[in-house]
Amino acid sequence: MISVEEAQQRVMAEVAAGGVEPVALAGSLGRVLREEVVAAHDAPAADNSAMDGYAVRFDDVADAPVTLPVRGDIAAGHPSATPLEPGTAMRIMTGAFVPDGADTVIQVELTDGGTETVTVEKALPRGTNIRRRGEDTRAGDVLLRAGIRIGPAEIALLAGAGKTSVRVGRRPTVAILSTGDELIDAGEAPAPGKIVNSNGPLLAALVTEAGAEPRTLGIVRDTREATIAAFERAMECDFVISSGGVSVGAYDFVKDALEALGAETKFWRVSMKPGKPVVLSRLRDRLVFGLPGNPVSCFVSFHLFVAPALRKAMGQETRLFPPSVRARLTAPVRGAADRRVYARVHVFAENGELVATPLRSQSSGALTSMLDANGLAVIPEGGEGAEGVLLIGAI
Ligand code: AMP
Ligand code: MG
Repeated sequence: MISVEEAQQRVMAEVAAGGVEPVALAGSLGRVLREEVVAAHDAPAADNSAMDGYAVRFDDVADAPVTLPVRGDIAAGHPSATPLEPGTAMRIMTGAFVPDGADTVIQVELTDGGTETVTVEKALPRGTNIRRRGEDTRAGDVLLRAGIRIGPAEIALLAGAGKTSVRVGRRPTVAILSTGDELIDAGEAPAPGKIVNSNGPLLAALVTEAGAEPRTLGIVRDTREATIAAFERAMECDFVISSGGVSVGAYDFVKDALEALGAETKFWRVSMKPGKPVVLSRLRDRLVFGLPGNPVSCFVSFHLFVAPALRKAMGQETRLFPPSVRARLTAPVRGAADRRVYARVHVFAENGELVATPLRSQSSGALTSMLDANGLAVIPEGGEGAEGVLLIGAI
């Protein structure tokens, strides 16, 4: 058995960033940016007003209260054609460019709001309420580095930089095989000894959430031949995930089938609970994750091994692994004598502190133990308390 860290290293050593493709900006949410984006212009492009008010020269209002003639309006998008003459004011709106000659904006609330003349009740320090040219970013600044995941804020910056399309990592296709003679598809009539294949839909959803493209190849019967044939078919995809059939049972054929196909085993069995019998294999130029059949083992090993690999394959360079935070457990979780336990918890913020509630069932077969799980509490071998909580969802 190897440690989780060792297993993660072996996974990552097998993965390289894949191809790049252009996408329209509107379709780039959740994709991995694969180009460096440099600002072509200063932002803001010119000094502009942070308030609705009056553009003035500080020297003219230093002795407020004072009344000045108003020489026109400056609306956002309509710069003044003329500079501000000494001893006058111009009405100015938020975002409008400050006219030459003005150095301060007095917000309307500190005036009588006049349109012919304005009485400024109170002087403000020189430069107040002016957003300076280039204050946000300057031409030539790197706005976004290659290798980040694009979120709403990144889309705003890309649009601000004038981009209508961006180069992103291609989404790898991921074959999903569900092994097990006991499996029937959701919607099929229940039969004695049969259970519904929930790992297939679970893994497809996890793959989609990670930003890749699932290809559900269905249920694979527990024979050597069927398992071999299924892995052959799965070679049309960039990655392969199977569930079940990796333990030491008489009908566990995943490792056998992979060996028969000439795959190279990178590891089998990791010191963790749940998920111990997970296998990593390289078949031709494809990486195969043989996840255990227990739904929760699938869930946990996906977050620890598969999601980071998919992110790396799309060219992501930061935040590949779930981040670890400290959180107070509301109830003790029993560790295992010989393995590290990953307990599903619900993490939330309360009174300025992160709190983690272990979910009702911690059985690796219980689907309910995944509901609301946005964290995995890490319980060291033989331990009682959590040494940290890995975040696998939003708090
Ligand atoms: P295995 O790893 O094949 O020994 O399976 C371990 C347990 O997980 C068994 O109780 C299976 O019935 C269950 N299991 C295996 N595959 C699935 C699946 N696709 N959906 C739901 N449960 C499964
Ligand atoms: Mg099985």
